[in-house]
Amino acid sequence: MDDCIIVRYGEIALKSDQTRKWWNKTLLENMKDCLEKNNITYSSIDVKLGRLIVYTKEKKEASIALRNVFGITSLSPAVRVEADFEKIKDKCLELSNNKGKKFRVSTRRITKEFPMTSDKVNGALGAFLKEKLDLEVNLTNFDFEMGIEFLDGYAYLFTERIKTFGGLPIGVQGKVICLVSSGIDSPVAAWLLMKRGCQVDLMHFKVTEEGYKKYTKIKEILQKFSYGHEIKDYVIDGVPYLSNTKQKLCEKGKDKWMCIFCKKRFLQEAERTCNEEGYLAIITGENLGQVASQTLKNLVLLDSTVKVTVLRPVLTYDKNEIVGMARIIGTYEISKEKEPKCPFTPNYPMTSGSAEELHNIEMMIWD
Ligand code: ATP
Ligand code: MG
Repeated sequence: MDDCIIVRYGEIALKSDQTRKWWNKTLLENMKDCLEKNNITYSSIDVKLGRLIVYTKEKKEASIALRNVFGITSLSPAVRVEADFEKIKDKCLELSNNKGKKFRVSTRRITKEFPMTSDKVNGALGAFLKEKLDLEVNLTNFDFEMGIEFLDGYAYLFTERIKTFGGLPIGVQGKVICLVSSGIDSPVAAWLLMKRGCQVDLMHFKVTEEGYKKYTKIKEILQKFSYGHEIKDYVIDGVPYLSNTKQKLCEKGKDKWMCIFCKKRFLQEAERTCNEEGYLAIITGENLGQVASQTLKNLVLLDSTVKVTVLRPVLTYDKNEIVGMARIIGTYEISKEKEPKCPFTPNYPMTSGSAEELHNIEMMIWD
């Protein structure tokens, strides 16, 4: 008998042979990084037909840590026994004890060498456990599910199926840079791109000390999802540019343009870093209509100020949906901590800036 974790993945299975090999390998590397960073001892990891099987005695710790590895759709702490029906019965009896009254058996033969069909195993094992433990079979409303997966001459037995985030293994989509503040939205944006297989590095403009402190905690949380990629970050003092620009705009009575100048500056700095370091795109936490400056017109205007692609993964979500994700990620509690209001935000930000006006104001204030 061997203790192990069954790791299942979703979209990788749909890929061509070549892509699947590459993505599988990336997932394997990321899982090893996760296990090592969490000091979990394991003897080996088998890669088999849509499953990765981690042999470890530290099943609880390993399944908690592996939950954060993108590309995995579900996990089951399991035991592996020889595919012998008597041995399976004994072990299932032990595993089913004290798990509740109503149960069902779910069998899958991933490889078909075991002589009984899945239905036969479900029936025979169900009847056996029902009698021995005085249980009740209920296929739809059950307290626990006795799971069996047959694979390469072994049976893997488990009573838990932990649903995880899915997505793609970090590293299969290339690297991007995310503009991350101390707010709720941009950490979620960074996490969503990680979830789809990007190596995400961060850029933060320090505007207040409190905001910066929150940002460093956010970065630590994001690192707990970034197995296989050490997050690099670029921290820039935002105050000199912003205070100078604010003063110049105020002198010309154009204070309402401040947010556009601010975001344009962020994008241009990120673009420069993309060109120097090879990032493929800039990510922001901008949303449509959430704050006065985030109108579609302004976002289009901002896009026109850089050549690099800007992706906005939370653009279409309602605030409560973004908050829901931030809670799951664990950044919400940090982002909602009080901090001083941005000292540069005008009372009435420009909501419909045009490229021509922006150009004229730039000429006016930088001459
Ligand atoms: P967030 O919740 O991410 O702070 P927000 O709703 O407060 O976003 P804005 O303040 O308009 O919106 O910021 C829009 C985007 O600009 C942010 O999502 C983030 O990507 C970027 N950004 C804002 N402030 C900073 C900062 N100090 N450093 C880096 N990026 C920033
Ligand atoms: Mg903000």
